[in-house]
Amino acid sequence: MLNLTRPLNAVAGQRNGARIFKYIIVIDLEATCYTRTVHEHEIIEFPAVLLNLVTGKIEAEFRQYVTPLMNPQLTRFCTELTGIRQEQVNAGVSLSNCLLLFDKWLKTVLAARNLFLPRTNPNDPTGNVAFATWTNWDLGECLSKDCARNQIRKPAYFDLWIDVKSIYMNFYKRCSDNLSEALSNMGLIFEGREHCGLDDSRNLAKMIVRMFQDGARFEITNQ
Ligand code: AMP
Ligand code: MG
Repeated sequence: MLNLTRPLNAVAGQRNGARIFKYIIVIDLEATCYTRTVHEHEIIEFPAVLLNLVTGKIEAEFRQYVTPLMNPQLTRFCTELTGIRQEQVNAGVSLSNCLLLFDKWLKTVLAARNLFLPRTNPNDPTGNVAFATWTNWDLGECLSKDCARNQIRKPAYFDLWIDVKSIYMNFYKRCSDNLSEALSNMGLIFEGREHCGLDDSRNLAKMIVRMFQDGARFEITNQ
């Protein structure tokens, strides 16, 4: 797996006496898109990377292409933006199956490390792992709307997340519209392809590692 940067000095699970997450699960969804601005987004790529905040390493990855139901034909604009091809979504699964596959992956990687998401363990309601995204769009908008549209019950664990963009802006007192610009402001290089969900997730993980080394605190931002 990708070795992101130098090891971290923080004591596992603590910083300045405050509880911190040991692990972060970075998610960056890709969705159908068009040149016009107002339209509904359907998820086409669902990736996740499990980042060990203490070592700065990615320990596991998940990726599933999803077949959009409403507009199964990708626009050329969408393929050019995301790099996702028609045959990849044709060979994908429905959103509900994707969420089942993700749930299976999630349970396996969490159980192997004794990790708990916030509010999933009565003995440890804070949890020691949390989801992180760039902006609130992925879990606050895209996934919620796509689940509602498909009449899928969204797992409650998706209700809490860390918006890395807001932490980045508050911590560095800097504004960046997109992930690659933020990385570049930090002297980091975006590796891979922008708007490829898995590459975006890996690069956001790299950014989180640097922010953690710089002293940023990662807490749930939407409660
Ligand atoms: P991102 O995480 O920035 O790669 O974007 C997530 C999704 O937002 C993409 O899969 C597209 O559906 C949509 N999106 C991102 N950038 C654009 C853009 N410039 N124009 C239209 N849609 C976009
Ligand atoms: Mg992306």
